[in-house]
Amino acid sequence: MKIIIVGAPGSGKGTQAVNIVKKYNLAHISTGDIFRENIANKTPIGLEVQKIIDGGNLCPDSLTIELVRERLSRPDCANGFLLDGFPRNVEQAKALDSFASPDKLVELDIDFKKIEHRITGRRCCKNCSESFHIDNIGDIKQCPSCGGELFIRKDDTAETIKTRLDVYVRQTLPVIDYYEKQGKNVLINADQSVEKVFEDIVKALDK
Ligand code: AMP
Repeated sequence: MKIIIVGAPGSGKGTQAVNIVKKYNLAHISTGDIFRENIANKTPIGLEVQKIIDGGNLCPDSLTIELVRERLSRPDCANGFLLDGFPRNVEQAKALDSFASPDKLVELDIDFKKIEHRITGRRCCKNCSESFHIDNIGDIKQCPSCGGELFIRKDDTAETIKTRLDVYVRQTLPVIDYYEKQGKNVLINADQSVEKVFEDIVKALDK
């Protein structure tokens, strides 16, 4: 199974991605996580993209496409994969289609008015990359799943959200249209509990 998950920042994409890969035994490829790892390790790629990411803009297509192409060629992707955060624009979608055309695109639909609250309360784990909301876990410092250290993403600020949403509308929504034309889209109401959203995703994928 080759799946793409798409949603505005704060739609619960990362959380649902973790659930999906566990259920279907897929490789989880999050381009945001790959970039954040490079930034934490101060690699040349990390140094190149740090400012772009902190500002809420997209990293260069050529670099991102190459990272994904290389990642998808690894053996753990042979059983299928879930792309979380890629493709972010039509250029990337066309490139993906040339080396690993997806079976389905799962779109998480969320009211934009709810996004600021979701993002400013987000805590991410340095170890397992899972993310949580302080409404659910309180203001704790350790990951409830693995015990790793929780952190606040530098791009999870009220100021950056505006840019990220703008980028989403201008660049990523056309990706949804692009796959809709191929009849691959699955629309999910993300304004429900994590469990209900996951249930809806499973129903749609198993159809
Ligand atoms: P995410 O964790 O998916 O929200 O991604 C965090 C940031 O990483 C984005 O705001 C972009 O700056 C960068 N990024 C992640 N995926 C991509 C992509 N496919 N193309 C370009 N930039 C990306």
